[in-house]
Amino acid sequence: MDDKKFMKLKEIQILFHNELDALFGKEEVDNFFFILIESYYGIKRFQLAMDTSLGLENNEAILSALKLLKQEKPIQYILGHTEFYGLPFKANKHVLIPRPETEELISWIIENTDVNEKLKILDIGTGSGCIAVSLAKNLPKCEIVALDISANAIKVAEGNAQLNNVEITFVKSDILNVSDISNELINKQFDIIVSNPPYVREREKEHMKPNVLDNEPHIALFVKDNNPLQFYEAIVNFAENNLTSKGLLYFEINEYLGDKMIFLLQRNDFQEIELKQDIFKKDRMIKGIKS
Ligand code: GLN
Repeated sequence: MDDKKFMKLKEIQILFHNELDALFGKEEVDNFFFILIESYYGIKRFQLAMDTSLGLENNEAILSALKLLKQEKPIQYILGHTEFYGLPFKANKHVLIPRPETEELISWIIENTDVNEKLKILDIGTGSGCIAVSLAKNLPKCEIVALDISANAIKVAEGNAQLNNVEITFVKSDILNVSDISNELINKQFDIIVSNPPYVREREKEHMKPNVLDNEPHIALFVKDNNPLQFYEAIVNFAENNLTSKGLLYFEINEYLGDKMIFLLQRNDFQEIELKQDIFKKDRMIKGIKS
């Protein structure tokens, strides 16, 4: 046996704490450690509690994960997967890591939708596909189309549709550029359009954590300070022809731009506009019905 490679899990756990506690705090470091030993070696937390002499024949994977955590690489990218709305999702640097606030958006849509209806739903800026896939899974009668500008993101989203056994039509288009929107979409009407587009203003960068800034795709996050609703405006314009009358528009939004979003939807004759907060009491979602 190669002694360098054999390490007790307890020793590795101590190494994790020594190297990472200053960055993340003890509790978070334990979380990382237990997620990694379960994911890489199938060893659960209680097993280590029961047998503290448990060890690894080959510790390369977990030590290289430690190195990446030290560089503040998100654990979801290190593992290559995460969970969203109770479903497994693959994630890599081409897509945002699905966020809990987006789960709240999904819940809101599902609450407001009759599961027996056969609706056509469009997800704009699908990224990992987390919105499209979790809607497809929970509203199985609906026909779902998902659009993204990034071919790499679409690859991930297609993988996630497969992983979750749902059928989604993926379209590569730039919603900001009408001439780029594929013909199959131009002539299609949807009952629901949903989007979590880029909405963080450049000037908000200074308040963001390095693990997000240095790792997640900026194309999926940022908008210009002087044009923060660019994507929402483009989507509202698209909805003019492509959302059915009485169709629903759902957005995840920047917590500071709720009023502007209400105004945008009012100006475009949307009815029953509702702004909704996330669990942190931040304005995070909006919906409106096309008149
Ligand atoms: N909520 C995300 C964040 O704070 C941003 C998502 C987005 O821009 N659509 O990082």
